[in-house]
Amino acid sequence: MLKKFLTCFTLLLALTFVISSTALAKSAELMGIDASNLDDETLQIKIAYRGEMINSGSVATELKSGILSVELDNASPGRISRIAGAQIKPNAREYIDKIFVNGTKDSRTNVKIYLHSLVNDTDVDVSVDPTSQSDKNSKYLFINLKKNNTQDNYTYNGDGKVVVIDPGHGGSDAGAIGPNGTKEKTVSLDVSLKARDLLVAAGYNVIMTHETDTDVAAPGVSDGVELQARVDKTPPNTDIFISVHCNAFANSRANGMETYYAPGAVQGAKLAQVLNEELDQIGEIKNRGVKPARFYVMTHSKCPSSLIELGFITNYREEQLLSSNDYQDKLAQAIARAVNRYFNQGGFD
Ligand SMILES: [Zn+2]
Repeated sequence: MLKKFLTCFTLLLALTFVISSTALAKSAELMGIDASNLDDETLQIKIAYRGEMINSGSVATELKSGILSVELDNASPGRISRIAGAQIKPNAREYIDKIFVNGTKDSRTNVKIYLHSLVNDTDVDVSVDPTSQSDKNSKYLFINLKKNNTQDNYTYNGDGKVVVIDPGHGGSDAGAIGPNGTKEKTVSLDVSLKARDLLVAAGYNVIMTHETDTDVAAPGVSDGVELQARVDKTPPNTDIFISVHCNAFANSRANGMETYYAPGAVQGAKLAQVLNEELDQIGEIKNRGVKPARFYVMTHSKCPSSLIELGFITNYREEQLLSSNDYQDKLAQAIARAVNRYFNQGGFD
């Protein structure tokens, strides 16, 4: 797990593999995409198409922040739109989360392959197979991702940065409760622990305000006392503070996720922004945006901080997502990616 986690950070360096070529007059049409774990060393993306030959020279790839972006010149998405048509073989799901396909202007198609960058084992050796093979109906383009199992190549990007994660509520305070009885304190703790594991494996120094279902101050104390106890868990050298919550509203139709920062906090706003962007990439629920708010833990923390609302636990669909192990993994990965971006890209730009 440690080994798997660490290599992903090499993904943060954009790797561009571009060969210019003369434009083709007609465009190819994509028929399907699949991804498979070819062997111990190779993850292969296979793009089936018909029509004009796509040559590798008209394919540009960039691997950044765990997303492999493939630009195809003179190609239309055809029947494939968004995730439909993109098949991820079971043995590749360990490495690939989802594939989106979008047509762009001027006869180009963009394929985005979301790698489980924080749990994968791949190095970033991207290559485009120069020889498109063909059978009677379809032609194929191959993109291989080389996995590298050499420990030496792993980098510890966390570099001991101190991250405090505050799972919202706990113990005597259940937080909001969903229509099916899911408790906010349970979701926030589960997601926080998963995010902690990912970050620790990447070399971050993660401090939890609490790591079991418990009050931090004491059961039944005032909110102010409880929240101050959480702030007090934050050592002076803390780099960032993230509080994890689920939203609630009387009307069960309210839905979506949002991230917050303390008004006027420039670094906090950057942290909230990257968290929002990475949560948005999961793509399952509405993005309600990045907002300023005077939440106690943010206004009292002495470091850049953000509070995230993962979704509405009072919404039937979102309660179901929030309580699913799979979705919680995605949330944790998004948080970890955001933390990584915050530090490795100097916040964001
Ligand atoms: Zn809450």
